Amino acid sequence: MRKTAIFLGGGASAAEGAPVQSMIFKKYFKALRAENNYSDRTLVRELQAYFKQMFYIDVLQDDLDKISFPTFEEAIGLLDLAVRKRQSFKAFDLESLAPNSNRIGYIRQYLVLLMAEVLEDKTAVVRGFHCDLVDHLIEFGCLTDTIFISTNYDLLIDRALSCRDGIAIDYGIEFTKGMPDDGLLPNAKGMSLVTLYKVHGSLNWSYCPTCNTLLVIDDQQGILTLLTDPSQARCAKCQSVRAPVIVPPTFFKDMSNSFINTVWHKTEKSLHDVGHLIFCGYSFPDADMHIKYLIKRIQTNRSDKLKITVINNYPGKNPEKMDEEKERYQRFLGTDICFTNNTFEDFCNQTENFL
Ligand SMILES: [Zn+2]
Repeated sequence: MRKTAIFLGGGASAAEGAPVQSMIFKKYFKALRAENNYSDRTLVRELQAYFKQMFYIDVLQDDLDKISFPTFEEAIGLLDLAVRKRQSFKAFDLESLAPNSNRIGYIRQYLVLLMAEVLEDKTAVVRGFHCDLVDHLIEFGCLTDTIFISTNYDLLIDRALSCRDGIAIDYGIEFTKGMPDDGLLPNAKGMSLVTLYKVHGSLNWSYCPTCNTLLVIDDQQGILTLLTDPSQARCAKCQSVRAPVIVPPTFFKDMSNSFINTVWHKTEKSLHDVGHLIFCGYSFPDADMHIKYLIKRIQTNRSDKLKITVINNYPGKNPEKMDEEKERYQRFLGTDICFTNNTFEDFCNQTENFL
């Protein structure tokens, strides 16, 4: 049986209630301003300064409903590009001999923490679509013949898979066993492995830059506690502070995190065995050239035809936007792809109709 690949974009998470890229900052600062004494925190003061200087937004004073925030990728992408070019922005420097330098490095970490906090929002309504999808794939006996590829940092599909008995996730990379109870290790004996490639990193991956090792953070430990409490985030072996692996789309090539490179390599390799590629909640944005490159390679370098289905509708979506996306998909992948009018919910509820 040829395998099926399910490609999960931001729209799949949005269907579960996760904020879309463009809403992350608005959601965060709205919630923050509802709290007391928020402005004492260094993280808040620094983020306020960053948005003021770079985007002319005062996140603590302006009317948030009237503001168009940059996307998370834009805000963090500026910093990553500056690091790569060894340049600074006015008032935001790289590390230097000056005391308290490397403001760019700190702001980047604060932005990741902010995003983690928004995505880990316990009050958010999770509709369980990812779980329904996994249920149906198990029911039809095709879960282990399915490869998941996700551009999302959140843990919606991870949790939908790892909460099942007898199933372990294969992220395509080797994790180190730090503590005896370090949670979902992919090479767990006697378990069925389900492949999940997270091409932009994941909130539950904790990287030690000194040992060059990666840990999977157990869900129960609370991802955010580990990120916000540095004492808990130290590498057990060398005491360095571990960091999450979050690699925004456009710049991953230059970030050259070896784990991410491995994920991309394995994604390409495994896609050669795939007969059917299903895009869910992915709008095929012009900026994602690395994804396009990957898909084009596997589409053209094969003896049989790659079947492609697109599921990218949602309730209330503007029909013009749908037409635009259809055109974008077809001009790049050919007119014989199957561009549906279905939503992610349809796919999760009637999975068998799409396989
Ligand atoms: Zn270490």
